[in-house]
Amino acid sequence: MSAISTVRTTDPTEAAGFIIRGGVVAFPTETVYGLGAAIFDETAVRKIFEAKGRPGDNPLIAHIGDVGQVELLALELSSDAERLIEHFFPGPLTIVVKKTDAVPAIATAGLDTIGIRMPNSELALAFLRECGKPIVAPSANVSGRPSPTTWQAVLEDLDGKIDCILQGEPTDIGLESTVVNCTVEPPLLLRRGAVSIDELRAVVPLIRELASGEAGAEKSPGLRHKHYSPRAKVAIGRELPAGFAGRAAFIGLHTSEEIFAETRVANSAEEYAAALFEFFRECDRGGIELIVCEPVPETGIGAALMDRIRRAAEG
Ligand code: AMP
Ligand code: MG
Repeated sequence: MSAISTVRTTDPTEAAGFIIRGGVVAFPTETVYGLGAAIFDETAVRKIFEAKGRPGDNPLIAHIGDVGQVELLALELSSDAERLIEHFFPGPLTIVVKKTDAVPAIATAGLDTIGIRMPNSELALAFLRECGKPIVAPSANVSGRPSPTTWQAVLEDLDGKIDCILQGEPTDIGLESTVVNCTVEPPLLLRRGAVSIDELRAVVPLIRELASGEAGAEKSPGLRHKHYSPRAKVAIGRELPAGFAGRAAFIGLHTSEEIFAETRVANSAEEYAAALFEFFRECDRGGIELIVCEPVPETGIGAALMDRIRRAAEG
């Protein structure tokens, strides 16, 4: 693909103009930066897959600026889906529901379902409202790289490949949304995120969590793909593996006894989660060969954080 010039702006109306003209635009949300295109425009949606090098069998999430837009996308809503919308929209939760015919197959990787989310970020909502229609958006990184939590990280991956970057603050949460499949009874948690299983169960008590290796994994095709990986190797723990002599970095909640080329100590699991992906990128820029990540208790955001660290360690 030949290079295009990527416009940077802080103006949501200017950014939305590129979407309306069939372009692709990166924008901040409270989770990570997304790469959006008009959902009903197949040619525009294809540009997302091209810019990211994303496999065509990995579905995108529809982003809405208004709860009323759900009906343009969802064929039917279970009462559980309605309850989740009522409690968690806008917020870091994606619900998967049966899609309408208006949603092109390319957006959902040929599935008859669509993930829908309403981000809880003023700039994202202003941008989405200016777009007028729902947009589809995966994370705004080159496929396989850590999701971007700053506009600079988007630029690093996608400069010259996308039409515009809407520049906002670094994202608050720093991990991708929680995904719940509402087309099965009871609903199934497909991806951990900032909305925890306990918070979900307070609203829909019977929500199930996918056991690792369980057959339902193909319901979230994206989970088959390698994700969230820095170029450096990732190890879980607080110490350097015996005999390791290369450049290593550490991130966690406590300082380690060992000497590292780079160290990041966060004050809480929330801060750790928000810092993780940018730390991965910093380590890659600094030629780090091994990143040691301290494990945290798997409650609240800790569950999502450990999920991402494990995937990176497998990568
Ligand atoms: P990304 O925004 O890059 O994290 O990618 C979106 C992810 O959401 C996918 O990789 C899937 O894990 C999940 N997802 C999106 N749409 C669906 C769907 N229709 N069914 C199941 N999972 C979905
Ligand atoms: Mg992604």
